[in-house]
Amino acid sequence: MPKIRIGLVLPDVLGTYGDNGNALVLRQRCALRGIEATVVKLALGDAVPDNLDLYCMGGGEDFAQVLATEHLLNDGGLSRAAANNRPIFAVCAGLQVLSKTFHAHGEIVDGVGLIDATTAAMPSRAIGEVTSRPTLPELTEPLTGFENHLGATILGPGAQPLGTVTRGTGNNVVEHSGEGVVQGSVIATYMHGPALARNPQLADLLIARALDVSLADLEPLTLPEVDRLRSERLRG
Ligand code: GLN
Repeated sequence: MPKIRIGLVLPDVLGTYGDNGNALVLRQRCALRGIEATVVKLALGDAVPDNLDLYCMGGGEDFAQVLATEHLLNDGGLSRAAANNRPIFAVCAGLQVLSKTFHAHGEIVDGVGLIDATTAAMPSRAIGEVTSRPTLPELTEPLTGFENHLGATILGPGAQPLGTVTRGTGNNVVEHSGEGVVQGSVIATYMHGPALARNPQLADLLIARALDVSLADLEPLTLPEVDRLRSERLRG
């Protein structure tokens, strides 16, 4: 039976918005296919192993972001995992932490630097449903989530958006800023939800990458409840 280990990075500080659920969704979608998946919780102060199959990070408040960044920079394990091309999925504060710089309490803070992006503050918080058309060729289904952020992210040439916004704000109020980021093995987004409960195809892409297979090689899963949830969310 194939096995994967999913690192849940700093659930104690980046678990504010329920994004820890992403790791549970991955584990359950694996279990339904007979793939044994273990969630390894990596709390503040724990070393981050660089040899896990997949990593998930969630959102949180400004101070939580600063704590997370300091820990990840000191530890270095997640950066080594990215250098080894291990898939990393990061949400909201997680996106900002992995970028070059972000704002916290009015100060500019250096991030972990895995994503070519900077984040400043918007005039007002973006809160509400966000939908987009994915840019990755493997993803054919629209993306849906709930955004709640003050950060306005601008991508540099090394990064591409995860989606083209069809509803909501996404990375930035500036037109065509896109939603989320793809860079190397990192996929990041402003979608809470948890995002992977609302976007099963994205969850499966991460599982496929964790197994080093293509998405098309993964056994399909038909879950009518998930389809109904998606159609409700996409209808708005
Ligand atoms: N503190 C960040 C912001 O407001 C991230 C918020 C979040 O993770 N939801 O932009």
